[in-house]
Amino acid sequence: MTWQWTPLAIVLLTTSALAVGVAIGLMRYRRIRGIPALAATMFAVAWWALAVGLESAAVPLRLKILLSTLEYAGSGSSAALFLFFALRYTGRTAGRSRRTLALLWALPIAQVALVATNDLHHWIWTGFTSGPPRSNILVYHHGPAFFIVVVGLYIYLALAMSLLVSSALRAPIPQRRQTAAILVAAVFPILGGLLYTIGLTPVPGLDLAPISFLLSGLTLSVAIVPLHLFKLVPAAREALIERMSDGIIVVDAAGRIVDSNPAARALLSLAAEALGTEAAHALAIWPEIAPHLLPHEESHLELTASQDPLLRLDVRVTPLKGGIAGPTGHLLVVRDVTGQYRSETMLQEANEELHAQVQEVQRLQKELREQALRDPLTKVFNRRYFDEAFPRLLERATHDGRPLAVVLFDIDLFKKTNDTYGHRVGDELLVVLGRLLTRLTRPGDIACRLGGEEFVLVLPETDLSTAVGRADEIRRAFAAAMVPGLGLGTGPTLSAGAAAFPDHGVTPDELVHAADGALYRAKGMGRNRVCTARGDVRS
Ligand code: GH3
Ligand code: MG
Ligand code: MG
Repeated sequence: MTWQWTPLAIVLLTTSALAVGVAIGLMRYRRIRGIPALAATMFAVAWWALAVGLESAAVPLRLKILLSTLEYAGSGSSAALFLFFALRYTGRTAGRSRRTLALLWALPIAQVALVATNDLHHWIWTGFTSGPPRSNILVYHHGPAFFIVVVGLYIYLALAMSLLVSSALRAPIPQRRQTAAILVAAVFPILGGLLYTIGLTPVPGLDLAPISFLLSGLTLSVAIVPLHLFKLVPAAREALIERMSDGIIVVDAAGRIVDSNPAARALLSLAAEALGTEAAHALAIWPEIAPHLLPHEESHLELTASQDPLLRLDVRVTPLKGGIAGPTGHLLVVRDVTGQYRSETMLQEANEELHAQVQEVQRLQKELREQALRDPLTKVFNRRYFDEAFPRLLERATHDGRPLAVVLFDIDLFKKTNDTYGHRVGDELLVVLGRLLTRLTRPGDIACRLGGEEFVLVLPETDLSTAVGRADEIRRAFAAAMVPGLGLGTGPTLSAGAAAFPDHGVTPDELVHAADGALYRAKGMGRNRVCTARGDVRS
């Protein structure tokens, strides 16, 4: 008979299976720092419990001793991996975990080497005796090296514990609960191991340590599953990243997509298979993104899809913390801002329309003001404008010490023209004169219809003789004008009176009065001429 299955063996094999279960369960949360190390610890415990269970069931002495040797490999690596877990979990090994791991393996390897070569030196086991009758228990008598090795392993466990305790005291509340659960789980093997080492076991030769690791495994399982220990971060990721409406893409330093959430894939029309492929290629329909995956600084861009319906995306690119060589990658957060963009565009359009309307109103206002100041028939300014503008121009001339001339025009015997050819023809004549006054003056001059067939011309910065010259030019042009309904040269003539500032007056009234006097004299002298306030200047 090779195996004798006892309840103890079954319990130990179950322990092993449970440890494997816990390890596999932990692998789901391997993103949390230290969790891969804890899972590895659980695998080592499983190995250990399996070896102990098989050892207790094995009947041949040599098989028992072989399984005990394997058992040492399990216990040693359990302790080493647990210390490594504590170092990782508390953040003590960042950047040099491989070297630390190699150092930690020194003790378990030495231990296995000693056990495996026990036949040569008997430092671990000095001999073996049978346990109680029919118990199939082999009692191992220990040599000096056993205690040295065990002390080494407890130093590992004590170090791991002190790291976890000190970090638990500093950790924020939710993490402290995790650490506390791990501590409780770690207390069992230490107690079990102590009891075995000092010989305080219910049955001689029964190693309680792996069974106590069963309790550790259960503590952790109970902590993981219902209390969601370790699940904090993955659950948050699930809820926040997978279900959030904002898109998230993580690109590594080589420009490959290492993670993306459904929102990002939907917004950017990114295939799920794009994971692991080059971002620039996978996002080729958004060529604007690629240049943002290089810089060390956070950047921001807005994308508009050429598709229908409109899609407007806001993309924020954040470099992920890296060394001197540059960022280790980039995080892209994509937000659908179509609604916002649409309302902004609508607001802008409404604004532009309003602006155009305001401009139209202003234009109409200006036109209206113009109209109020213009004579509707001849289109030259009216008396109101003259009354307003003339004093202003005169003031400026006074201020600048510059000359200014004013000329009054009156159509000769206009009443007769009206009577002979009709009022319509008379109106045409007024229009012709208005046009001439506009055409034959400079932009700075102002021509106004004072009323009836009486017009005035204000000529800033013009002396008397120049003004007379201009007035005479108008007089001749009027006499030669083609007027519908009138034969050429048969139309009425024009008389004018000119006065100049400051010679004939310094106020508007004085000047108009002087020009009026000159006009009166022109009429008296037989019409069709220009007179000045000073005398008759006939050209
Ligand atoms: P004088 O050479 O002395 O200026 O003779 P006149 O006939 O031009 O002088 P008067 O002031 O007696 O006549 C002005 C006429 O101008 C009277 C009126 O019929 C005419 N008139 C005034 N306003 C208008 C107008 O808007 N259209 C037309 N067709 N005639 C007008
Ligand atoms: Mg008149
Ligand atoms: Mg007249």
